[in-house]
Amino acid sequence: MSQSDDCLFCKIIAGQIPSEKVYEDDTTYAFKDINPKAKVHVLIVPKQHFANVAELAREDSAQLGHIVEVAQQIADREFHGAYRLIFNTGIDAGQTVFHVHAHVLTGETLDE
Ligand code: IMP
Repeated sequence: MSQSDDCLFCKIIAGQIPSEKVYEDDTTYAFKDINPKAKVHVLIVPKQHFANVAELAREDSAQLGHIVEVAQQIADREFHGAYRLIFNTGIDAGQTVFHVHAHVLTGETLDE
């Protein structure tokens, strides 16, 4: 599994930094965002390191599809299948951690 030494989310996946796990399988890890923007705010990450969603789509589109499936499962459990899925991509879009992550916002009715 490729990892990046300086990557916060690689360290979370490896258990070197604590997190509140929501879901895990062989390829994918999901945990609660430390600064939630909705009643339920989960980050879903591939265990393999990709910088952003464009790189993930190019190099492993099946993994990208799997992230969407995991988001749906979380939302099915938390809020009758309704959710918002966000991939901030690039500094000017607000990306601060350069290990691709899907923000899943759910658990309540969201503002437009
Ligand atoms: P970005 O701005 O799209 O890159 O999202 C990074 C997200 O990671 C933000 O929503 C942060 O609140 C979240 N975050 C940063 N550090 C941690 C942590 O240690 N645990 C959980 N979430 C974190």
